[in-house]
Amino acid sequence: MMQQASATMPLVTIFGPPGSALGYAIRDFLYRSDVPFEWVQLVTDAQARSEAGVEHLADTRLPICAFADGTRLECPTVRQITAQLGWFHTPLRAEYDLAIYGAGPAGLSAAVYGASEGLKTVLIERYTLGGQAGSSSRIENYLGFPHGISGAELAERAREQISRFGAEILLGHEGVRAECTPDQMGAYLEDGTKIVARATICATGVAYRRLGLEHEQRFEGAGLFYGAGASEAALTRGQRVFVVGGGNAAGQAAMHFAQAACHVTIVIRGESLKSTLSQYLIDRIAATPNINVLTQTEVTALDGDEVLREIRLRQRTTGESHTVAASWLFLCIGGEPQTEWASEVGIVRDAGGYLVTGPDLVRDGRCPAHWPLDREPYYLETSMPGLFAAGDVRHGSIKRCASAVGEGAMAVALVHRYLANG
Ligand SMILES: Cc1cc2nc3c(=O)[nH]c(=O)nc-3n(C[C@H](O)[C@H](O)[C@H](O)COP(=O)(O)OP(=O)(O)OC[C@H]3O[C@@H](n4cnc5c(N)ncnc54)[C@H](O)[C@@H]3O)c2cc1C
Repeated sequence: MMQQASATMPLVTIFGPPGSALGYAIRDFLYRSDVPFEWVQLVTDAQARSEAGVEHLADTRLPICAFADGTRLECPTVRQITAQLGWFHTPLRAEYDLAIYGAGPAGLSAAVYGASEGLKTVLIERYTLGGQAGSSSRIENYLGFPHGISGAELAERAREQISRFGAEILLGHEGVRAECTPDQMGAYLEDGTKIVARATICATGVAYRRLGLEHEQRFEGAGLFYGAGASEAALTRGQRVFVVGGGNAAGQAAMHFAQAACHVTIVIRGESLKSTLSQYLIDRIAATPNINVLTQTEVTALDGDEVLREIRLRQRTTGESHTVAASWLFLCIGGEPQTEWASEVGIVRDAGGYLVTGPDLVRDGRCPAHWPLDREPYYLETSMPGLFAAGDVRHGSIKRCASAVGEGAMAVALVHRYLANG
């Protein structure tokens, strides 16, 4: 089976067996990175030999990536692919005016505004550009795109804009630890590299929430997927798909799969989609004959062999359970911020781990403990002067692309104020 991500000539051809979790990880990365690729699904040992040049389907060298320049990577990590695409760099400067962590809509916007306004800006992203939005097949409510735009294309446009303004992009690097002294703000990347900046914006969004079921990790990428799985739609042709979640991400995913799959079932715990989904998506789902919604239902068990084969569904009102065949399960159940680094240095978070900023830090006219300045924190400033938060990672943020982009831009305005006045 072949799947081509776009009509453009593929830059990468991936050969792999069905249900390969690494195969999925590579497809997801390339899709979000807007890199044209072709997935060649190997189904027999003979095909594995003739197409991929390996012994059999279980050969540990699979999946194999063949690049347009003739390079062949066996069983590569996403980091190796990032490097092969020429995107893996080390920092060029010893010190920046502005360091931004996370390249979702908030971080991308902050990088455009930071660099365009003359700040020496570095954007650090652990995966690829686009964040959660990068997994969306079509964002339809973002200003200026009346017919919608895929998250991957939006991110690619942002990359071009950022590069034109001269910000540095460090992909495949993760900020893991903060070090803040009164006169210097630093952070360490996973390889020990220290990034020093006069001001920092944390735009690290949220990471997908998990169901917390047995075997969940085992089936990840092998039938069970987090997010809207836009890279997988063509592979679901003629099959049944389950989407768990009642938000816009789930609604979009269901609409996208409905074009290829024979049937899509949305599973939600609530009574209806009304309170969680935008009206335009509710209307479209209602008008799509091959989508149904299972309300007040939850997934309680996963089963299979090398790949997911079955899920167990429990009706919450009656308590009745039944098992259904399922080889495509997409989980769009929201996310959680990953801000443990912040608590290590005493930055105020809320009970959910979101970074608290600006007026939310001030209680009865009093700034948080250890706040060292005479002024109150600026609107998007955390309890550490000069460290700002923008987008979904921020306590009280509106979980939308446009608001994340807006906060990224606003954070840069506040960075200027901080650099000028302290
Ligand atoms: C499938 C889907 C569809 C959606 N559709 C819509 C829509 O149609 N309209 C709409 O308005 N909103 C939509 N949303 C919501 C919207 O995408 C989010 O609100 C938005 O992406 C939040 O942006 P952000 O930049 O704050 O964070 P994120 O998008 O979460 O980006 C955070 C980035 O930070 C990176 N990161 C995390 N930790 C680190 C670290 N330690 N070091 C370096 N990098 C790190 C992550 O890899 C990620 O790339 C959708 C969301 C999903 C999942």
